[in-house]
Amino acid sequence: MTIFQRIIDREIPADIVYEDDLSLAFRDINGQAPTHILIIPKQAIPSLAESTDEDTPLLGHLLMVARKVAVQLQLTNGYRTVINSGRDGGQSVNHLHVHLLGGRPLGWPPG
Ligand code: 5GP
Repeated sequence: MTIFQRIIDREIPADIVYEDDLSLAFRDINGQAPTHILIIPKQAIPSLAESTDEDTPLLGHLLMVARKVAVQLQLTNGYRTVINSGRDGGQSVNHLHVHLLGGRPLGWPPG
């Protein structure tokens, strides 16, 4: 079981900013920008690499949640969404998640 499943199950606290039947969004504990939100499916997909074609509607839903949360948190100057996958992608929690970062200009390319 991952730390994100424990957050879904309310076993450990998180600063939740959005929730619906399919997903949960909460502030990253180690924010890399003034606003840093993690959007996760309640269904435990380990990574983007391990998702399947059947997950297409759910993955689209996560991006729509990112858009809604960006409006809710007034990221009017723009924002970035990131999905790290696997070791080289820098994924550290094996429960698929979309990072939503904003509140400052973000550099490119990432490290
Ligand atoms: P990854 O490196 O897998 O793309 O992103 C995992 C993110 O989860 C990291 O940015 C890390 O700060 C965040 N994180 C890890 N543990 C916790 C936790 O217990 N609570 C919250 N809110 N974020 C966490």
